[in-house]
Formats: sequence, C-alpha cells, structure tokens
Amino acid sequence: MAKKEEIHQCSQNKYKDVEIRYGKINKEQWSWIIETTWYATESEVEDGLAREVRIPLHSDTLLINFCPFCGVNFSDKRKKLGK
Ligand SMILES: [Zn+2]
Repeated sequence: MAKKEEIHQCSQNKYKDVEIRYGKINKEQWSWIIETTWYATESEVEDGLAREVRIPLHSDTLLINFCPFCGVNFSDKRKKLGK
C-alpha cells in the first residue's frame, strides 16, 4: 500500500503552531514527526527580522513514536489500521 501523509488531530494539543504528522523525512524514509513553527510577530517585523507578520521564521522537527500530548502509540495505531 502506498504511504500517504497523515495528520494527528490531537484534542490535547493546545498549541496551534505545533503539528503532529506522518510524512517523508528524507528521500526514502517516513516517520511520525512533531513540528513547531515560529511565526513572525509585529515586533519581529519592526526589528527588520521579517517582512510580514505570520510568515514562518523558523521550525523545529523531531521524530516521534508517541504523541507527547495524549500518549497514543503511532506504531500500534498503524498496525490496527493494517498499514
Ligand atoms: Zn495526541
């Protein structure tokens, strides 16, 4: 079965700039990842660090097996779904 991107919509994730998803991490490998994106605020625009408010300035990505908010085990989840 072809792999496809998936987003974990977590009811316990209260951070709108944090996304948990399954996707490509390099040319061949896929993993669940947590991505935190820092969007430009007005003060960064005033300081000349960004052209516009809300453009992404920086993001951090970590590979994960569990959701750090609700604790779901993603590898178990995929086995149950037969993926
Ligand atoms: Zn979760």
